[in-house]
Amino acid sequence: MKILVTGCGGFIGSHLLDRLLAREGVSIIGWDPDCKRISHLLDHPALSFRQERLGGPESLARLEQDVADCDWVFNLSAICHPSRYNTEALRTIHVNLFEAYPVIELAARLGRKLVHFSTSEVYGKTIASYLGGYDDVDPALYMMNAENSPLIMGPVRNQRWSYACAKQMLERLVYAHHHESGLQFAIIRPFNFFGPRMDYLPGIESEGVPRVLPMFISAVLRGIPIQLVDGGHARRTITSVHDAIDALMAILDQPQRSLNHIYNIGNPRNEVSMRELAEAVRQTFVRVSGETRFARHPIEIVSSMDFYGPGYEDCDRRIMDISAERNQLGWSPSRELESLLDETVAYYWRLYGASS
Ligand code: UDP
Repeated sequence: MKILVTGCGGFIGSHLLDRLLAREGVSIIGWDPDCKRISHLLDHPALSFRQERLGGPESLARLEQDVADCDWVFNLSAICHPSRYNTEALRTIHVNLFEAYPVIELAARLGRKLVHFSTSEVYGKTIASYLGGYDDVDPALYMMNAENSPLIMGPVRNQRWSYACAKQMLERLVYAHHHESGLQFAIIRPFNFFGPRMDYLPGIESEGVPRVLPMFISAVLRGIPIQLVDGGHARRTITSVHDAIDALMAILDQPQRSLNHIYNIGNPRNEVSMRELAEAVRQTFVRVSGETRFARHPIEIVSSMDFYGPGYEDCDRRIMDISAERNQLGWSPSRELESLLDETVAYYWRLYGASS
């Protein structure tokens, strides 16, 4: 079996490659401009790595050849850091919609099976958030279900939604290709995947504002306050990247059952507010390092205007229905929040903390 993976050098792509390359009879063509996270795999005989980004000046002809050579296409290439959605909206839309679309068009035209990575952010905000909260409301007003839930985004001036909108348009294009020309697809909506090699640690590995967990871990390692945006009331449902890869393997192993569906890939048992997550990260550092001082690591509140700038608007809550995923794939997530935080913090503690 031959698989093309775009974005193979990213956080999810690197874990996917680890798992795929451990299998007999699988060969991979991987595209990514960055190979730091997969440096341990570059010599693997079953991997052909193209250090290239989609949308490069001469990439389309090579991409067409690579799609033609493969049985499956996993399309992971994306910009997915919320700090860029409102500050670089044009680039966010360009990369996530226009550069990603040729992969879909080629898979449809050449009749290859497509596993397309979308985002849980296509759901936007919950209906309950507009009704003033979740107490005593029907779970259907906040539970995200791929078949029935509406996709609710804020006004255009809130450019935070540039990413979600681009991703939603791509989902609609995938679905239209399926409907009109028989494209075989699976769309993945990831719910806050966490694990080692996630993004980068700002001020340690690179500069910028990655997603929440590397922000919190970096703050603890650098001895600066953890910053909670708007009080840390937003809620997220945290998923181990290993559970996510299990779901992808279930899709790959049973195409008759798995294809032509949209999947919520998440763990509804791991729901936390960002304040609870900050406290859990402090406690994880205590467990991993054996040092009680981390329990008192400072936490400060910042406004979203100061942290992200104008045009940011938060998703209030992301809790998903995964009954269809259980039935269709025979998959359900098993890693609890405490153990996945232990694994991730221990990974960074070994790299950067143990000698500090
Ligand atoms: N957040 C925070 N402190 C940070 C980074 C993020 O409080 O240093 C909040 C952010 O406002 C949002 C949540 O954490 O409510 C998750 O943000 P993330 O960037 O991980 O991505 P999202 O889940 O919004 O796609």
